Amino acid sequence: MIRAVNKREMGRKELEKMFKRHGYDDFKWIDSKSIVVSQWARMKCMFGCKNYGKCGTCPPNTPSVSEVKEFVRGYKTCAVFHFAKKVAKPGDRFAWTRKVNSNLSKLEREVFLSGYYKAFLLFMDSCNLCESCPGIRQSCKNPKMSRPTPESMAMDVFATVRKIGYPIDVLYDYSQEMNRYAFLFIE
Ligand code: SF4
Repeated sequence: MIRAVNKREMGRKELEKMFKRHGYDDFKWIDSKSIVVSQWARMKCMFGCKNYGKCGTCPPNTPSVSEVKEFVRGYKTCAVFHFAKKVAKPGDRFAWTRKVNSNLSKLEREVFLSGYYKAFLLFMDSCNLCESCPGIRQSCKNPKMSRPTPESMAMDVFATVRKIGYPIDVLYDYSQEMNRYAFLFIE
């Protein structure tokens, strides 16, 4: 049972304690003004991604680029969570990301219940909460928990996380370590 507390009781230090209690030690704060949202990121989803139109939290189910910019402007701060992992083959990634995304949802909920009513999470990888996805937002099987990724919200994750000193590079082989990032908007 999560105890609802008043937001005024909970500043950044208390939020950080909450993150750690949920098992997250690798995170940094970013001023939302530093988050880069770009039309090119949306183009990469539309042309070049085999999942375009197949995930209920990916384009064309996500807001327009200008709407995302408006969304980001609605927050002062955001916590960025870093996850690094190597997998033997592409399909191995999904069981891992499903678990991580699901756990992050629980954190978002606790932040919300602590009084930060605007708390909104962006998953660290495509939703994947279900074995199969209808690909249509209105038909989502788990609409309360599913969230978009930063990429599906047209965020330039490379430019954004590099601003706060996190590693990220284009990978060409699954033997390389992935660096993935979830964003939790809080105000
Ligand atoms: S919760 Fe399930 S149905 Fe909804 S977007 Fe995620 S994978 Fe698709």
